[in-house]
Amino acid sequence: MTKRDYYEILEVDRNAGEAEIKKAYRKMALKYHPDKNPNDKAAEEKFKEAAEAYEVLSNPEKKARYDRYGHAGMGGAAGGGGFSGGMSMDDIFSQFGDIFGGAFGGAFGGGSSSRGRRVNKGSNLRVKVKLSLQEIATGVEKKIKVSKYVSCKSCSGTGAESGGSYSTCSTCHGTGHVTRVTSTFLGQMQTTSTCPTCGGEGRVITKKCTHCQGNGIVRDEEVIPINIPAGVAEGMQLSLSGKGNAGARGGVPGDLIVLIEEKKHPELERDGNNLIHNLFISVPDAALGAQVEVPTIDGKARVKIAPGTQPGKILRLKGKGLPSVNSYGTGDLLVNINVWIPKELNKEEKQQLEKMQHSPNFTPNPTASEKRFFDRMREYFS
Ligand SMILES: [Zn+2]
Ligand SMILES: [Zn+2]
Repeated sequence: MTKRDYYEILEVDRNAGEAEIKKAYRKMALKYHPDKNPNDKAAEEKFKEAAEAYEVLSNPEKKARYDRYGHAGMGGAAGGGGFSGGMSMDDIFSQFGDIFGGAFGGAFGGGSSSRGRRVNKGSNLRVKVKLSLQEIATGVEKKIKVSKYVSCKSCSGTGAESGGSYSTCSTCHGTGHVTRVTSTFLGQMQTTSTCPTCGGEGRVITKKCTHCQGNGIVRDEEVIPINIPAGVAEGMQLSLSGKGNAGARGGVPGDLIVLIEEKKHPELERDGNNLIHNLFISVPDAALGAQVEVPTIDGKARVKIAPGTQPGKILRLKGKGLPSVNSYGTGDLLVNINVWIPKELNKEEKQQLEKMQHSPNFTPNPTASEKRFFDRMREYFS
């Protein structure tokens, strides 16, 4: 479907100013408002089209982009929060507060209430889970005890005593919304809002459950098993659909949002999927070579220090890092070598070092590549 020109939709000139665009949109919105054109698909499309045009032309930044590139400038990431699939009715109604001001915004009310009975949605719950690097490396199942709203067992969540006794709401006759006709300076307008008696449910309970006072939900504790995949990182969120608070009176439950936190490891630091260990070796080990142990995520590994190893050398232990959460592959363990220079010396050690002090082998003589810091960093981290 090719999109129509935004100026054409609002029937304004390309040079139209802010006030003129606003006025034109107000006119279109009133003309094609769903409450004035019930069950008219064509009107609804025109209503959405006008809202989209206004959304762009009322925003100086988006308008400038549209003027320059047309619809091509509005799609995808370049749209910067623009629409790829059009606006929802809720988006459009939420925009109304700006356009019609307090009184008008109120008159239109929440647009969604005019389309069918409301379903109660439980709220989302948030929990934090703190994980060790070992748990992150393998993935883990955590059982979390959460305090939340659950469906009332006495009334099976209906809120009604003894298996449900309801009567149709007399205020709205079961529709969940009330309609009234108001006179405005633009003519007669039909407006719809949520029924105040039944809160949009269309029915009222004749005898409330005493256990939950008719809400259908009660507070309780629940132990929820959470499967945490390997490779997660601090700040990530997992969403467990339907594990949040139960919705009132047979509504749908919210979600459980799990926020990942990482425990610090005493000897390993994380850098993406790689792990880094800062290893200190002695001067003789660096000069003579040695076998040393380094900590890994699941124990220890032996690494060989070649004779003449310089501080700043990084040894890479392939595959000893963390698995990637989104794709295949595992990070490495990078062992960053430091050479420990003694801070105190006894008399004998001092004499031995003094003997070496002027020996040519102890005079620094780095190669060209050893002199270059960033070349080496790139080599190690590539
Ligand atoms: Zn009602
Ligand atoms: Zn109950």
